[in-house]
Amino acid sequence: MKVIDIHSHFFPKTWPNLQEKFGGDDWPWLKHLPSKGEGFDKAMLMKGNKEFRPIYSACWDADVRLQQMNEHGLEQQIISATPILFAYEKPIEQALYCAQFFNDAALEICQQGKGRLFAMAQVPLQDIDVACKEASRAMNTGHVGIQIGNHVGEKNMDDEGVLTFLQHCAGEGIPVFVHPWDMMASERTKNYMMGWTVGMPAETQLSIVSMILGGGFDQVSETLKICFAHGGGAFAFLLGRLENAWHFRDIARGKSQFPPSHYLDRFYLDTAVFDHDALDLLVKKMTTNKLMFGTDYPFPLGEQKMGQLIKTSATLSPPEQQQLLATNAEQFFNLPISV
Ligand SMILES: [Zn+2]
Repeated sequence: MKVIDIHSHFFPKTWPNLQEKFGGDDWPWLKHLPSKGEGFDKAMLMKGNKEFRPIYSACWDADVRLQQMNEHGLEQQIISATPILFAYEKPIEQALYCAQFFNDAALEICQQGKGRLFAMAQVPLQDIDVACKEASRAMNTGHVGIQIGNHVGEKNMDDEGVLTFLQHCAGEGIPVFVHPWDMMASERTKNYMMGWTVGMPAETQLSIVSMILGGGFDQVSETLKICFAHGGGAFAFLLGRLENAWHFRDIARGKSQFPPSHYLDRFYLDTAVFDHDALDLLVKKMTTNKLMFGTDYPFPLGEQKMGQLIKTSATLSPPEQQQLLATNAEQFFNLPISV
């Protein structure tokens, strides 16, 4: 069975010293750790002088990535930046520099990928005109889609600027992947990685809800291809609550012309939910046409046995599994069809 992972991340092995270049003390950089000759080369991802996350060479070394893809039966993978590289809070010229540098670096990794690696680009979403231009440039240089963070400061997905960007993508046929980041309630979720296990799913739910109730799907043309990460976070489980509110409190309807469930065929979700019951719920709500396999590789919170959640599903038929594992992604990202 063909397997395409649409949600994986990369870091280049090195990049310019952004602190030196732009000033400020919170730029990301990699502290490479001495190799002890065993296992993979490792590095500590730093934010300023704080340790952010340990990573290993699968992030930057295409050979390591391909070897692990082989071990897990993955044929193709789409790589995208990790949100720490977005720089949405920085001045636009600095954010554009980062976007262009990391977008070009992603393509360099893909060039080592023997035709099996593809990349999504990032854009400086704090300036919509610049973001649209960088999206178009990136697609012309070989990216297969654009990844955006799910908010820009206090601006949600129903922000006029964000919707203008999405309309630009709809017009040019650019697929968009929405990744949660900069999680809410950070003060109360700083322990136990709750920012990732609680904050991220809440962020993604917030994004889908604000897009629906803010009239985003009514406003942006139906040609928009948009996919939300992590199975849409808490969205599917809480859809009933949202639907109930829409019907029985007029102030909960926002600008949406129809009840929330009306818009389910307007977006895709990835399948990084790690649980068969959760996957079954997604299939029930979204249908097998709107789900794409994603892992969050190569991070510890990703699917460790990549592809197994779908392959061991007792409720999905083999053709349906194939749809989720590859066919939907091939169509969504216009990937070259290989046998
Ligand atoms: Zn991710």
